[in-house]
Amino acid sequence: VKAEGRGTHRFFEASMNALVRERRLMEHDLHQAVAHGEMRLVYQPQHQLATRALIGFEVLLRWQHPVRGAVSPADFIPIAEECGAILTIGAWVLSQACREAAGWTNPLSIAVNVSAVQILAPHFIQSVDDILRETGLAPERLEIEITETALIRDPERAASTLRDLKALGIRLAMDDFGTGYSSLSNLRSYPFDKIKIDRSFIQAVDSNSQAAAIVRSVLGLGRGLGLQVLAEGVETEGELRFLHGERCHAAQGFLMGRPAPIETFAAHLHPSEAQ
Ligand code: C2E
Ligand code: CA
Ligand code: CA
Ligand code: CA
Repeated sequence: VKAEGRGTHRFFEASMNALVRERRLMEHDLHQAVAHGEMRLVYQPQHQLATRALIGFEVLLRWQHPVRGAVSPADFIPIAEECGAILTIGAWVLSQACREAAGWTNPLSIAVNVSAVQILAPHFIQSVDDILRETGLAPERLEIEITETALIRDPERAASTLRDLKALGIRLAMDDFGTGYSSLSNLRSYPFDKIKIDRSFIQAVDSNSQAAAIVRSVLGLGRGLGLQVLAEGVETEGELRFLHGERCHAAQGFLMGRPAPIETFAAHLHPSEAQ
C-alpha cells in the first residue's frame, strides 16, 4: 500500500510539473503574441431593435497560435490577466479598434472589452486618452464593456476609473448582467450607460417563463434607471420577437451576425461608396 501511495504521489507530482511547464509556455507565448502578429480582431454587429438598424460592433479578440492553432479568448484571457500580458494585449486591442473605427465614413460605435487588470493599472486613463488623441476617434463612439467581477477587487478605485472614463466622454456598459456577482447596487454606484443581459437568459426567453420574467424585470430596471439595455446571444427569431415586444433597445447574436473580420461589413462602414 505504501509503495503504491508513493507511486501515485510521484505520478501526481510529474503531472503537476507538466501543468506548470505548460502554463509557463502559454504565458511566454502570450507575452509575445502581439509582437508576433498572432492576434487579430473580429467584429460582431449590434442592432437597434425598433428599426433593426446597425448601430455598432462589439470587438472580440482572436489568437492564432503557431502550434496550437486558434485559442479561445475564454481560455487565454484569464491566463493573460494573471501573468500581466493582458496589459500589452488590451492596449493593442483598444488602439487597433479605435484606429479601425476612426477610418469609417459611417460613425458607428465600437464596444471594447476591458479586464479588471487594465482598469486597476496605474496609467489606464492616460493610455485611453492617448489612444483617442492618436487615432482621432470621437470618444462618444467608444463604449467600454466591464463585468461586475471586475469591480469587486477594488471597488473604490474601479469607481474612480469609471468616472474618469466618463469624463473623457466614453460610454460604459455592464457586461454579462445577471451572472456571477450581480448586484443591483452596482447599477447605482457606478456610472454605467448600458446593461448587457447575459446570453444564458436570452437563450431561454422563448422556452422558460422564469428567464422571460428576469429579462422583463431587467428591462424595467433599465427604464427606471435611464439605462440602455442590450440583449446578448440572440440566436432565434422567437427570441428577437420577444425582445422587440418587450421594447428592448438593442441586440446582438448569431441571428444578426457572427463575429467576423471587419471587411465583411465594408458596405456598412462606407455606405456612400457602395456600388
Ligand atoms: P463576452 O464579452 O460575453 O463576448 C460575447 C461572446 O459570446 C463572444 O465569445 C461571442 O462570440 C459569443 N456570442 C455572440 N453571439 C452569440 C450567440 O448568438 N450565441 C453564442 N453561443 N455565442 C455568441 P468569444 O469571442 O469567444 O469571447 C469570449 C469572451 O472572451 C468574451 O465574452 C470576453 O469576456 C472575452 N474577450 C473577448 N475579447 C476580449 C478582449 O479583447 N479583451 C478582454 N478583456 N476580454 C475579451
Ligand atoms: Ca463583452
Ligand atoms: Ca457578455
Ligand atoms: Ca431559445
